[in-house]
Amino acid sequence: MGFFTKDIKSLNDLFMHGLQDLYYAENQIMKALPGMIEKATDAQLRAGFEKHLAESEGQVHRLRQVFELLEAEPKGDKCPAIDGILREGRDLMSEIDDEDVMNVGLVAAAQAVEHYEITRYGALIAWATELGRTDVVPMFKANLAEEKATDQKLTQMAERRVNPKAEKADKPSKPKSSARRKAPKAATRPVKAKRPAKKARRRA
Ligand code: FE
Ligand code: FE
Ligand code: FE
Repeated sequence: MGFFTKDIKSLNDLFMHGLQDLYYAENQIMKALPGMIEKATDAQLRAGFEKHLAESEGQVHRLRQVFELLEAEPKGDKCPAIDGILREGRDLMSEIDDEDVMNVGLVAAAQAVEHYEITRYGALIAWATELGRTDVVPMFKANLAEEKATDQKLTQMAERRVNPKAEKADKPSKPKSSARRKAPKAATRPVKAKRPAKKARRRA
């Protein structure tokens, strides 16, 4: 392997840069997650973050195994993308007071992180394969599977929170159900107000 400077001259250099970038990113994510756990009041979201923090520790461990197989020192390279995504999440958290809004914001912020990770693991798997380093691919694939599963759970949470009544009531296509519900809501309210008056008249 040898020493890698900032100059990326070959696919191998690009691969090593990507690995160091993701190693840095995973470490930054591990530092950010406790703050997100603290802000999450939704039990499921909080538990999900806690689980993913534990998973992230394992992911960092797998990346160290990759460095070892490549006979390179585990080293991070500053990733401006993850710094920006995490900063945006922190800024957002500082702007929100309402607990429910906070939970919704946290889901979206976390998904931005997962999506970044997913693209990078995908690239590393492709480059490692092309470079003939299939020995390191299983570690990347294991991490990628965890990121994808986390992203899917976040999507489910987002969908449930955006329209909580939709799950209990009717399960047809969303535009139909929301349209159906919105229209009667406005129409039934004044009718409801009249009905008790009629019943009262009958009873009397
Ligand atoms: Fe990760
Ligand atoms: Fe990066
Ligand atoms: Fe992740």
